[in-house]
Amino acid sequence: MFIALEGIDGSGKSSQARFVVQWLAEHGFEKNTVLTYEPTREGYGAQLREVLEGRAPFPENPLSFQELYVRDRKDHLEGCILPHLEKCDIVISDRYFLSTLAYGMAGGVSYDALMDLHKTIIGEKFIMPDITFLIDIDPRVAQERIQKRSGGTLEHFEKKADFLHAAAKHYRELAMKFPNMHIISGDRSQEEVSEEIGKILSFHPYLCTKQS
Ligand code: ADP
Repeated sequence: MFIALEGIDGSGKSSQARFVVQWLAEHGFEKNTVLTYEPTREGYGAQLREVLEGRAPFPENPLSFQELYVRDRKDHLEGCILPHLEKCDIVISDRYFLSTLAYGMAGGVSYDALMDLHKTIIGEKFIMPDITFLIDIDPRVAQERIQKRSGGTLEHFEKKADFLHAAAKHYRELAMKFPNMHIISGDRSQEEVSEEIGKILSFHPYLCTKQS
């Protein structure tokens, strides 16, 4: 079982990913739950983080920049996600392919070009999550949260209000195109958001089997 959490930075993905881990533990799945994230901290993921945190120059070509995310995803799939799924673990990923589509399109790359990158770089190893939670939020609320969290330091994408509005809009539109997507309103307390996610998990055919 593969679960992804998506949304702009500050939407609450990481907090809710931890909630999913806790929910799974409380429902008998604690031994085989793996929490992971993208970009990773290795190889292409480490290169991406250098750019995002302003330690390396921003690539001029937006498509080449997105290519780094897809190459990182390929390594993530081969090195972590697929091996754990083969062992029947439940993998929870904080960001996955919808991020590349939403942010890439907000940066001016076409949907087709981003899908082609996935096809050429990852090919048949690409898998869709069994559940994706898209946490939808007003970018202004998300930015306020990030500024509180980091004491005012925003990463490259987080600085641009228009860009974040576009990314949030693409996320919502993309969520209509793909299967197993749940759009969750993130402009509420963490507990309210978690309650909705918990309800969706409890109705999932795979997860409800172990519930007492
Ligand atoms: P993301 O992973 O999407 O960037 P986080 O889960 O790290 O978001 O949350 C960003 C900040 O906002 C954190 O400081 C977190 O504690 C806080 N936060 C998360 N969800 C909520 C919420 N529903 N209401 C208020 N603050 C929240």
